[in-house]
Amino acid sequence: MKKIAKPTACVHAGTARDPRTRGLNSPIHTSSAYGYIGVEKKAYPRYFNTPNQENIVKKLCALEGAEDGLFLSSGMAAVSTAILGLMKQGDHIIFQGDIYGGTHFMVARELDKLGLAYTFVSSLEAAEFAAAIRPNTRLIYIETPSNPLLKIIDIRAIAALAQQHGLISLIDNTFASPINQNPIALGIDVVLHSGTKYISGHSDLCCGAIVSRRELMEPIRHTAVNLGGSLNAQTCYLIERSMKTLSLRVEQQNKNAMQLASFLQQQPEVNVVHYPGLPSHPSHELAASQMSGFGGMLSFELNTREPEPFLAALSLISPAMSLGGVETTICAPAQTSHVKMSRQEREAIGVGEGLLRLSVGIEQAEDLMEDISQALVKSGLRSGMKV
Ligand SMILES: *Cc1c(COP(=O)(O)O)cnc(C)c1O
Repeated sequence: MKKIAKPTACVHAGTARDPRTRGLNSPIHTSSAYGYIGVEKKAYPRYFNTPNQENIVKKLCALEGAEDGLFLSSGMAAVSTAILGLMKQGDHIIFQGDIYGGTHFMVARELDKLGLAYTFVSSLEAAEFAAAIRPNTRLIYIETPSNPLLKIIDIRAIAALAQQHGLISLIDNTFASPINQNPIALGIDVVLHSGTKYISGHSDLCCGAIVSRRELMEPIRHTAVNLGGSLNAQTCYLIERSMKTLSLRVEQQNKNAMQLASFLQQQPEVNVVHYPGLPSHPSHELAASQMSGFGGMLSFELNTREPEPFLAALSLISPAMSLGGVETTICAPAQTSHVKMSRQEREAIGVGEGLLRLSVGIEQAEDLMEDISQALVKSGLRSGMKV
């Protein structure tokens, strides 16, 4: 297919119209049993080859510039299926240190049992990843921007390192979304998403996705069929519907996050703002060289050890886990994603008690700023005298 622009791909790629009715939307094929005589493809939901599954894979592949892919039942199903599909007993994997907490727990709990060795690299420097390579290393796994400090790793440098050593490179592209970052074009082999976040975008679905070239998707697909993390047709259809507005949503989230980041930077109660779109971000230029938008995620350090009164005083912005929805949400990583670490461990990686992570939605930015200002006053962090 001719390469089409992302907003167009969001709307049109993968749509399978019913020629009988000429309805504009792909029909929902609810069957879990399909005839097999005289057909080339034996369809079955867990084989990841039913029409609604294939429609959304085509859409995501068009957005990521990928040949093939799978949509699975959660982001973690995508993470575990990709790893198990590509690795075998005795292999060694290099992980970026500050990956998503759920991935970290899965690795630490499951991989030893399977005879897979791994190293977490705490630095973002490609040279440190190179130093971790062993004779049995097969995979390098990264995530950028990272959670919750929005650190940026050089995607091209990691992809080049992997190529040089004959390793597979894999990225969790959830935070950027397929709209802001396309790692395959930068040399990465496998791209994962927690579709629960931006791809779904309305805080009402759970799914995950893997895209890559055909040669690598083949072993992953076999493992996916065996592990069984498939989706039903209704959920696939809702994902297709959500993705039609993905670029529209993410463009608005990019704009709102930029405005909020600048606004927060000017507040005396805020010590620091982490957002790759800010020129003050230590990797702003690197981010600009590998992202086409800086995303809807940011974090900031409030000048307090007890952010709960501030969170409770917000009225529009909801303190909530997860991210990527149309509504702006906020969470304190010290109380959520990083609660299992000790305070010292958290402080060592820059996650203080006052750190707050915002997932910026598609509301009017001024309303969000107004909500933050009134909450600063109401929680007593700002004297009511100030205007
Ligand atoms: C949420 C998330 C996951 C896991 O996705 P689920 O859909 O919750 O299984 C993986 N990676 C990142 C970066 C995430 O934010």
